[in-house]
Amino acid sequence: MSLLLIHSERFAEHQTPPGHPERPERAEVFDAVASRWRDRGIEIVAPRTATREQLGRVHDAEYLRTIADTNGRSVRLDPDTYTSPESYEVALLGAGAAVDAVERALSGSQRAAVALVRPPGHHAERSRAMGFCLYNNAAIAAAHARAQGARRVAVVDYDVHHGNGTQHIFDADAHVLYLSTHQFPFYPGTGAATEIGHGGGQGFTVNLPLEAGSLAEDFRMAFEVVAVPVLRQFEPDLLIISAGYDAHEHDPLGGLRLTADGFGAMTMALRQVAEQCCRGRVVVLTEGGYDLKALAASLNATIEALHGPLAPPAWPSSGITSNRGAQAVRDTQAALRAYWHFG
Ligand SMILES: [Zn+2]
Repeated sequence: MSLLLIHSERFAEHQTPPGHPERPERAEVFDAVASRWRDRGIEIVAPRTATREQLGRVHDAEYLRTIADTNGRSVRLDPDTYTSPESYEVALLGAGAAVDAVERALSGSQRAAVALVRPPGHHAERSRAMGFCLYNNAAIAAAHARAQGARRVAVVDYDVHHGNGTQHIFDADAHVLYLSTHQFPFYPGTGAATEIGHGGGQGFTVNLPLEAGSLAEDFRMAFEVVAVPVLRQFEPDLLIISAGYDAHEHDPLGGLRLTADGFGAMTMALRQVAEQCCRGRVVVLTEGGYDLKALAASLNATIEALHGPLAPPAWPSSGITSNRGAQAVRDTQAALRAYWHFG
């Protein structure tokens, strides 16, 4: 598959206070990952800056002014979301990378595009910074794809945290399906199976809440019984992955137990859907992931799944029996039985 990476060393310039998990060293992991794939012949491009119009499709004008006002300043926006003087420009590049990835995937010049960005985006609400996030990169990407003519866009979020911002922005929109696997109950508190969207968007929010301790087997069940069948029925024109790697077993924040191979398997399962529905059009945007080694290994597994030959997902086996996936699947099926057929 024709694959592109979007990368900039400038993502290290967004500073957070000492001890903050979303730290500049994460961008050094992106540098190493980009360099590894450049050596293997993958094209790497620098992102452009997102425009006011692109941001304004998902964020309020007043909120955009608030973030622009942090330019050149260190500001605390929420109990765990901070800017440094460079953050405004870096966040504009992150959102711009998401837009660029969509344009590349839709234009057919590349079919899969991976944007290695920070700060993450999926907690950012229409008018509020939250959970390390300034602009909601995945939402900006989905809205840009719609503006470019995509009829249906799926956002699949496998970060350990629920993407409250992305869910809320498209709550009432049947053209953007939001599907999330996440630890539950956990920060930010949203993401119950019963949250299925509002109004005309009812049924187009799909939450798979997993108890702490969930393993690759639980994710596999969630994907095979719910995620893949729902995505096939939705038939997206573009599949966007909110790729958080804090569901890794070594992550200091999360309590789920995936390995890098598990991220590779999820990505391959999603690539298979994209091959069937939309000629393999996949956009990957990084979200969380706070153990640097786990972040590197999981990102490489994701890129490998998109770059290597198309194959059935190779789900790792932990050898441990768990009923956590079955519970999540039962709850999700009960909430969405009227809208989708399940596997
Ligand atoms: Zn997260």
